[in-house]
Amino acid sequence: MKFKTYTLQNYKEIPQISQLAKKDIASIDVVSHVLPFKTNNYVVDELIDWKNYENDPIYKINFPQKDMLIPEHFKEMESVINSNTTKSEIRETANNIRLQLNPHPAGQLEHNVPEINGERLLGIQHKYNETMLFFPTQGQTCHAYCTFCFRWPQFVGMDELKFAMKQGELMVEYLKEHDEVTDVLFTGGDPMTMKTKHLESYINILLDADLPHLRNIRIGTKALTFWPQRYVDDNDTDNLLRLFEKVSKSKKNLAIMAHFNHPRELETDILHTAVNNIRNTGALIRTQSPLLNNINAEPELWSAMWNKQVELGMIPYYMFVARNTGAQHYFSVPLVKAWQIFRKAYSKVGGICRTVRGPSMSADPGKVLVAGVSKVNGTKVINLTFIQGRNSKWVRRPFFAKYDEKATWLNDLVPAFDEKEFFYEDEFKRMYN
Ligand SMILES: *Cc1c(COP(=O)(O)O)cnc(C)c1O
Ligand code: SF4
Repeated sequence: MKFKTYTLQNYKEIPQISQLAKKDIASIDVVSHVLPFKTNNYVVDELIDWKNYENDPIYKINFPQKDMLIPEHFKEMESVINSNTTKSEIRETANNIRLQLNPHPAGQLEHNVPEINGERLLGIQHKYNETMLFFPTQGQTCHAYCTFCFRWPQFVGMDELKFAMKQGELMVEYLKEHDEVTDVLFTGGDPMTMKTKHLESYINILLDADLPHLRNIRIGTKALTFWPQRYVDDNDTDNLLRLFEKVSKSKKNLAIMAHFNHPRELETDILHTAVNNIRNTGALIRTQSPLLNNINAEPELWSAMWNKQVELGMIPYYMFVARNTGAQHYFSVPLVKAWQIFRKAYSKVGGICRTVRGPSMSADPGKVLVAGVSKVNGTKVINLTFIQGRNSKWVRRPFFAKYDEKATWLNDLVPAFDEKEFFYEDEFKRMYN
C-alpha cells in the first residue's frame, strides 16, 4: 500500500465519501476550517466501517463532526464560508474561534520551555525532573490527525504556537547540564513521520554524546495505528529497524509509546507484523490513550484493548482524561464516570494487564490520578493523587476534592472538608511569580 493522505482539499476523492449524507459532508467542510483534518488510505480502507460510518469510532477520530464545534461557532464559521468573503477573512474567523478553544492547555507555552545561556529552547519541554520532551522539527505532523488532539494548534498553521527545534546539539548541551534527566521522549506531532535518516541523526547525536544518566529513549507515536507500514514495508523500514537495534545494543532502553484508542486498531495483520518487527529489535512497546466520549467510553472496549495489547506483547501504560482544549465538550467524560469505567475495565483483566494507570489528567501542576470516590465521615469526596508533579515531593500524596459528578478537569474541582486550597497550590502559584 502506497501512503496517500486526504485533507479538506482532496478528501472528496475518497471513493467511500459517495456514501456520506450531504449534511455530513457539509459538517466536514465547516469544522475542518477550524480543527485540523487529515486522514489516509490505510485508515480509510482498513479501519473505518463505512456501512455504519455515523457511529463508527475510527471515522469520528479522523473526520470532523458537526458537534465538535459548539453551535455558535459552527454557525459563525458556516456563514463566513457561505458568504463571498475573502480567504483571509475566513482564516481570521477560524483563528478567532481557535483562540477560544484553549489552544495551549496545561501551561505548555509559558511554563515548560527551558533556557540555556538565556536562550529559550523552543523544541524542548522539561516539566518533570526525569523526562525531557524533544520536538524534532521534521516530526511535527502526523500520518492522520485526531479530532481530539490536544496539540491541534501545531497543525493549523498558527505558527507562533508551534514548538520545534532543529538542533540536536542544543538538546545534548542541555542534557549535559541536567543529569537528573533519565529519559528523552521524542514527540510531535508524530516523530515516526520523519524519514529514518532524520530520526537517526538525532539518535546518533544522543548516543555519541555518551551521557551516562540517559537511560531511556522514548518515541511517542501513533504510527502503529495510522500507518503500521512504517515498520513493515516503507522505503526506509530496514534502516529504521536497524536503528532501533542499534539503540538496544548501546544498552539504552528504547521505548515506543504507542497511541491506540480502540480495539479495532489492533486487528489488522499488518499491525501484528509491525509489532513483531519492533519487538524483534529489542524495543519495548507501551500503550496509552485518552478516554473519549463518542469513541471509547465503555469499560468493555478498554479491557478488550488491554488484553489484546498484552497478547501482542505490548505493555498497557496510561489511560488519560481528555484534555481541556479543542473539542473537549464533545469528547470529555466526567471524572467520576472516567474512574468508574477504568475500575470496571481494570477489574476484568488479569494482573499482567494492570500495569496501566489512570484515569490521569495531564494538568498544569502535574499528572493527577483520579483514584476514586469515597465517603469520609458521611461526606462524599473524590480521591486524587499526583503520579507526576512539577515538584516531585507532591507525588503520591493523597488529596481530596468535593464530590462533583459533572467535573471534567482538575480546575473544576474544589478541596473537600472546607480546606481553602489543595496542598500544592500555594507552592505551585509561587513557582511562576
Ligand atoms: C506525561 C508526560 C511526561 C512523561 O511522563 P511519564 O510518567 O514519565 O510517562 C513527560 N513530560 C510531560 C510534559 C508529560 O505530560
Ligand atoms: S497522532 Fe497524536 S499528535 Fe497526532 S493528531 Fe493524533 S493525538 Fe495529535
